[in-house]
Amino acid sequence: MASGHEKQPHAVCVPAPLQGHINPMLKLAKILHSKGFLITFVNTEFNHQRLLRSQGSDAQSSFPSFHFETIPDGLPPPKNLDASQDIPSLAKSTDETCLEPFKNLLTKVSASYSPVTCIVSDFLMGFTLDAATELGIPEILLWTSGAGSLICYDQYQNLLGKGLMPLKDSSYLVNGYLDTVVDFIPTMSGIRLKDFPPFIRIIYPGDEYMVTFFKKQIERAKMASAIIFNTFRELESDIFDTLSSMFPPCYGIVPFHILEDKIADKSLASIKSNLWKEEPECLKWLDSKPPLSVMYVNFGSIAVMTPQQLVEFCWGLAKSNYPFLWIIRPDLVVGDSAMLPPEFLEETGDRGFLAGWCPQEQVLNHPSIGGFLTHSGWNSTIESISSGVPMICWPFFADQQTNCWLSCNKWGVALEINNDVKSEEVKMLVIELMTGEKGNVMRKNAMGWKEKAEKACASSSGSSMDDLGKLIHLMETLSK
Ligand code: UDP
Repeated sequence: MASGHEKQPHAVCVPAPLQGHINPMLKLAKILHSKGFLITFVNTEFNHQRLLRSQGSDAQSSFPSFHFETIPDGLPPPKNLDASQDIPSLAKSTDETCLEPFKNLLTKVSASYSPVTCIVSDFLMGFTLDAATELGIPEILLWTSGAGSLICYDQYQNLLGKGLMPLKDSSYLVNGYLDTVVDFIPTMSGIRLKDFPPFIRIIYPGDEYMVTFFKKQIERAKMASAIIFNTFRELESDIFDTLSSMFPPCYGIVPFHILEDKIADKSLASIKSNLWKEEPECLKWLDSKPPLSVMYVNFGSIAVMTPQQLVEFCWGLAKSNYPFLWIIRPDLVVGDSAMLPPEFLEETGDRGFLAGWCPQEQVLNHPSIGGFLTHSGWNSTIESISSGVPMICWPFFADQQTNCWLSCNKWGVALEINNDVKSEEVKMLVIELMTGEKGNVMRKNAMGWKEKAEKACASSSGSSMDDLGKLIHLMETLSK
């Protein structure tokens, strides 16, 4: 039975079932709610369980005009609620099994709340576009990364067509071939083969599927009414112009967290999206450290490392002599759980603070943070830039190599660390970033981007505010 909201536009928001996708979609949903939309937010059943476990039931309970629903992801239920799901398996199962449950959900929520007037879906959840077409509902996509990485994914076919990829065998990972500069990518002059999303190398199981998967999603995206990017125009203006000629209208309404703080309903602040339990004690520890003195280390929600790489990072941080806050997820190290050398813990003592998950936006905005050693996930990149914090990048997969290249080469806010990480290099780069000449330039550049990010969200003239206004107008028009 309908509940009297019939005139209110109703947006169904569908994130891809990954931490770095749920976070920006939840912020976007809160922003749309502040503009008068009734929101249905759709998690997978597995992630819903994880969210309840990490934050308690309050964090996911429904508010007036803001409801949570679930659909199955099509995979057998994992035993370990702490581990990220395998990406190619997840991509395949959602693409092949979610359409019917999603259509049923649309029918259900249209009947219980009010008719769905718009779907706002993650770019990677292309099955939602099939549902939208079949049911005659307009759809808007959210690309949760920057504009630059979409250009790189879009160039997959070109790289394959020119015979530059796939790699002939795994010896090409180490023989210097990946340093080849590619000169035909719009707006990306100087980019190397190693800076493209690594699936295209087609070396590991699942890579070939991911290349086909991205091709399909990019084709499908052309059916959408608009695409929202997790970026702001000033940061990627040239790339934006190029994408606008290839895709439906593109909008950049970021940094989401600044807009959320400014305009979202404060009563929704308790709705959170951490899949791991947050340990806010680290903020107190940061309070005890001098300004710009702490190196923050966090490799996001999916990146993993070998026990040997863990040890190299340990000794690099220890030898740098700077205080560090290091977030070590329960599933960060391949195989056994993370085992830190006891001598490392003895030597660093109170100079280091270790936790399993932290409130990252607050950490990055803390005055004690002087640098960020990151895996270059896009959210981490945009959060760091908009907090004025320079980075050391150790990219792992997907768009992270491209984000690292952009951070180092286009925006001048980062140093890259060798994939085959050694403690001596970690030490040198930490010292350079914290007090070296290059580090100072990068901090100034990062502060410049922070200012631009804040201006983009200014009420009267900011580019993100402007794009948000246009987006809302489009969504209201489509909803009629
Ligand atoms: N995050 C967090 N606490 C942590 C680690 C990560 O809140 O301890 C958040 C971070 O702020 C970001 C997201 O999780 O919004 C990670 O997304 P990102 O794109 O950086 O990396 P991914 O996890 O997708 O590799």
